[in-house]
Amino acid sequence: MQKQVKYVIVGQGITGTWMSYQLEQAGISYLLINDESIQSASSVASGVINPVTGRRIVQTWMIETLLPFAINAYKALQEKLKINIIKSSPVILLHPSEQMKDSFNYRMTHENLYLIQQDPSKWTPYFNAPHGVGGISECYWLDINEMLQAWQTYLKSKGYYINAHFNIEDLHLHENKIEWKNITAEKIIFCDGIGSMQNPYFKSLPFAPNKGEALIIKAPGLPIQNIYKNNISIIPWKADLFWVGSNYEWTYEDALPSLAFKEKMIQNLDQLLKLPYEIVDHIAGIRPTNTQRRPFIGVHPNYPQLAIINGMGTKGCSLAPYFTAQLLDHLEQGTAIETEASLERFAQILKENR
Ligand SMILES: Cc1cc2nc3c(=O)[nH]c(=O)nc-3n(C[C@H](O)[C@H](O)[C@H](O)COP(=O)(O)OP(=O)(O)OC[C@H]3O[C@@H](n4cnc5c(N)ncnc54)[C@H](O)[C@@H]3O)c2cc1C
Repeated sequence: MQKQVKYVIVGQGITGTWMSYQLEQAGISYLLINDESIQSASSVASGVINPVTGRRIVQTWMIETLLPFAINAYKALQEKLKINIIKSSPVILLHPSEQMKDSFNYRMTHENLYLIQQDPSKWTPYFNAPHGVGGISECYWLDINEMLQAWQTYLKSKGYYINAHFNIEDLHLHENKIEWKNITAEKIIFCDGIGSMQNPYFKSLPFAPNKGEALIIKAPGLPIQNIYKNNISIIPWKADLFWVGSNYEWTYEDALPSLAFKEKMIQNLDQLLKLPYEIVDHIAGIRPTNTQRRPFIGVHPNYPQLAIINGMGTKGCSLAPYFTAQLLDHLEQGTAIETEASLERFAQILKENR
C-alpha cells in the first residue's frame, strides 16, 4: 500500500529525534527510517551540555542562545514522554596543570559567566588534584539513551517509525516529491550522521569524522551530583555507573573500542582517582565532525526535495534542538538559517558535484 507523508527523515540519533519532534509538535506528517544495526554517535555520547570549552576555557559558539533553548526543549520532551531526561550537573574542574589553573583564574576575572571557585579540600578524599580545583556552575547532563529509546517507542506506537537501512538507490526524485519504496513525500531530511558521507548528493560537504571512546566504570562512593573534568571527564551515567572518556581520533582503522584507549584511560584514572573502580564496559563511536566545526543545515541547491541537518560534531546535545527548529521554519516558512550553519555556504560545491 502506498503511503504519503510530507517529510521522510533518515536517522534517529539526537538530530533525527529532534527533527521528528519538531514535526510532531507542528502537526506535520512524517515517517522516520532508522537502521538500528548501526552504532550511532548519539548512543555513546556522554550527554553533556557544557557552556565553556577548551584549554582557554572560553564560551562555546552561540551558547547564550543555544543553552536556554535546549533546556526548555529537553524539559518539554521529558514532559511529553513522562521520563527524566535532563539534569543540572555542575562541573568540578580538577586542573591538570598550572597552565590550566592560570587559564581558569584569568577567565574568572575576564568575561566569566559560568565559572566558580571551589574548596579543594572537599575533593581531596576522592581525587589527586595538585594543581587546584575550579568549577563550572551551569552545566547539564542528558540521559541520551533513555531519550532515544523512549522517543523510538513513541514513534513506533504511532506507526511513524521504520527500522530499515536506507539505500540511496531506492530513492527516486520527481518534481516536488520523493519516492522511497512504497512511501512518497514532499521532502526527505537526512539526519544520518556519518551515513551522509556516502550520500552522492551531499558527500562533497567537508566531513571530517572523528572517533571517540569511553569506559563505563563503577566507582562506589564517588558523588554522583557532579561531572568531573581533568585530562579526562568522569560523568555520572546510570545508577552507580560513570562514563569515562574521551579521545578525539582523526585517523582510525575501525569504529571499535581499542586497547590503546583503554590502557590510557586506566593510567589516567589510576593517577586521578583515589577510590577503587571497576571497568564494566568499553564503547566507541564516530562523531559527525567537519573541517569547519559548524553544522550543515538546509536544502540542496539543485534538488529542493532534499534537505540535510548534519555536522553536529562534538556538540549534538546543544545544537540539535535549536537547529532542527530552525530547519523546520526554513522549510515551512522560508526563514533564514544562521549564516555560519547554513548549507548555502556550500551551494557552489554542491551544485557542481551533483
Ligand atoms: C565518545 C563521544 C562522546 C560524545 N559526547 C558528547 C557530549 O557529551 N555532548 C554532545 O553534545 N555531544 C557529544 N558527542 C557528539 C554527539 O554524539 C554527536 O554530535 C551527535 O550524536 C550526532 O548526532 P546525529 O544524530 O547527527 O548522528 P548519529 O547519532 O550518528 O545518528 C545517525 C543515525 O542515522 C542512522 N543511519 C545512518 N545511516 C543510515 C541509513 N543508511 N539508513 C538508516 N539509518 C541510518 C543511524 O542508525 C543513527 O541512528 C560525543 C560523541 C562521541 C563519539
